[in-house]
Amino acid sequence: MPKKLSSAQDAIKQAHEEGHWLCPKELDGKSYSQATDIVFLDPLFWQALGKARGWKDRMHVCNGCGLNLDIKEITTWNKCRKCDSDVEHQYGYKLWAHQWFENSLSNGDEQKFWESLP
Ligand SMILES: [Zn+2]
Repeated sequence: MPKKLSSAQDAIKQAHEEGHWLCPKELDGKSYSQATDIVFLDPLFWQALGKARGWKDRMHVCNGCGLNLDIKEITTWNKCRKCDSDVEHQYGYKLWAHQWFENSLSNGDEQKFWESLP
């Protein structure tokens, strides 16, 4: 299990050191919090973070309950067994990238977001 993250800085460090993400040159001289537009819009950042944290490549997300389902919880018609909604299949890193944007658009607690990452 990778250690829990507590901040954006933590996540960036881990993506860099363990996921081999290269910080873009534009970051020079800026703190990470000033450069979130550069970091969090880079799909390579999220992929590297996923590699570092061992996220599964594919995730099955229910449109109804919003959960990441196990394959056993999905019917052959691609519906959730709990609530009968459609299930979407996403790359693991995209799911968390979406959650990050969702969190910042709704003024969520940034630290809580990082702590909640598997
Ligand atoms: Zn469901």
